[in-house]
Amino acid sequence: MSLSEVDFLHYNSHILIPEIGDVGQEKFNNATVMIIGLGGLGCPVAAYLAASGIGRIGLCDFDSVEKTNLQRQLLFSENDINKPKVQVIKKQIGKINKRILVDAHNKKFQDLMVDADYDIFIDCTDNMDTKLFINDFCYRAKKKLITGSATRLEGQIIGFDFEKNSKCCLECIFDKSGASQFNCSDLGILVSLLGMMGCLQVTMTLNMILGNFKKHGIVSRFDSFESQWIELKPSNKVNCPICDLLKQEGSKFVQHK
Ligand SMILES: [Zn+2]
Repeated sequence: MSLSEVDFLHYNSHILIPEIGDVGQEKFNNATVMIIGLGGLGCPVAAYLAASGIGRIGLCDFDSVEKTNLQRQLLFSENDINKPKVQVIKKQIGKINKRILVDAHNKKFQDLMVDADYDIFIDCTDNMDTKLFINDFCYRAKKKLITGSATRLEGQIIGFDFEKNSKCCLECIFDKSGASQFNCSDLGILVSLLGMMGCLQVTMTLNMILGNFKKHGIVSRFDSFESQWIELKPSNKVNCPICDLLKQEGSKFVQHK
């Protein structure tokens, strides 16, 4: 779909950037992106994907809004308590940009997979098993995946383009022994860090859509206390149950319990 005169005005901030222009903005408008997990990361991700003009946004979460969410999940207010998160966010981001389509899936990603027809998947969950499940799915379906997490004073983001690169996946990088390390409710989180990491997930998404992504499997970690970034190179785990086994045996889906 090409841009109308009204769209040109609306997306002027992007169109003025030579690396994006009207051609890049059209790519954003034609892209489909799924957000899994609508918490502290999912809220800024949904808001900025909508503002960027992503044509179709999928929202996947089975939770309802709770009072304890309000400090860090900025698309929700007191009036939304007990309402399904997908329903509230669909309404909120529709106000940010009425040109986009939003699909609300009030269920677990594990129950949605057969319908998950999107270009890019953004993992904003705080649960290790779900993260690894999404990793399995994206690897098998050769999709692009951006996974983010943040706890206490540290955030991290990793992107994978499984369409172009089958070396290294999330399973290679994460140690299962740290299964609860992403849970903000138990460990605490600096709320501004969630906004920062969520916006980085969106920026990486836009770069992927523009065809400007070169960081497959690189872990970018930010220590907010020291104001310091570190980058860890991708590592292929020997006998990784996802990317190593699939390379040897063809398409075989490994399900996490
Ligand atoms: Zn792997």
